[in-house]
Amino acid sequence: MADADGDGEFGVDRILADIHGLVAQNTGGEVADYIPELSKMDPTPFGIAVTTVGGAVHGIGDTQAPFTIQSTSKAFTYCMALEAIGRAKVLERVGVEPSGDPFNAIEFDPVTRRPYNPMVNAGAITVAGILRDVHGDAAFDEVLARLSAAAGRRLVLDEAVYRSEAATGHRNRAIGHLLVSVGALAEPMEPALDLYFRQCSISVTARDLATMAATIANMGDQPVTGREVFDIAAVRDTQAVMFTCGMYDYSGNWAYDVGVPAKSGVGGGIMGVVNRQLGIGTFSPRLDRKGNSVRGVESFRLLSAELGLHAFDLTNPGSAFVDSFFAGAGRS
Ligand code: GLU
Repeated sequence: MADADGDGEFGVDRILADIHGLVAQNTGGEVADYIPELSKMDPTPFGIAVTTVGGAVHGIGDTQAPFTIQSTSKAFTYCMALEAIGRAKVLERVGVEPSGDPFNAIEFDPVTRRPYNPMVNAGAITVAGILRDVHGDAAFDEVLARLSAAAGRRLVLDEAVYRSEAATGHRNRAIGHLLVSVGALAEPMEPALDLYFRQCSISVTARDLATMAATIANMGDQPVTGREVFDIAAVRDTQAVMFTCGMYDYSGNWAYDVGVPAKSGVGGGIMGVVNRQLGIGTFSPRLDRKGNSVRGVESFRLLSAELGLHAFDLTNPGSAFVDSFFAGAGRS
């Protein structure tokens, strides 16, 4: 492939083009249909974008096609809750244990009587409750502003998807009632649910996801604008939960095969964080049975192998970073 970004860097663009070409042939999976508006999505767009912590953006395919962020928003709202009320108070309300069950399971941890983790709906709705407690009616504006700061552009709400989910989200309402019954969520629960439906309906692109992920990879500082968006301690905790719980009940396989903290959404997006190095965003709407984008998973698997991105891979330049850091320390 030619130099897509016109920046003279052929290596990564060539790898992205090869992976895109290969994975585009896979037409497996189905577009999500349990939110009526999502079932109308065009299943064909496919984009892969990468943003480095130095602020370089590379992409191939439909990297500017809009889709709703859905569950990928959960990583950011969790980060915001940690910042707002502190780790200890958040842990009192939401755990950090993988559930092994589907994202929309109507359940809580029977031992703690709290949601298992913030990446499943029960946990994310509780996190929305925390943000409502802190910000009141301004909570959605706060979320939108923060996600926009991470993307480096003003994001907007997809009204049609929001209305569709708000009108039909009975399962999430059932989760809300369960949370109220165990004291994890305060009454009235409707404002927390509304915030949750809205945060899921923010419109993004693969390029946005890559840059938002790069903001996390860059310890909370947006790599293009240079703005400090998230607190470094909250970013660390968020990545840990993404690593163990971010890919629905496929999280174990993902950690084993791909090895990067990630979060997917039923809108077809996946965001991956290569700590201190890269953010990766993919978009392709057809999902597998666990709710992850089929082409997204395949793209990440190939990218991780090709670039040596697995957290525990010897080829991961992260280890080179630590190596040089300690070597430098030794010399002084
Ligand atoms: N808004 C969706 C729901 O709560 C998000 C699901 C997802 O992306 O996992 O059902």
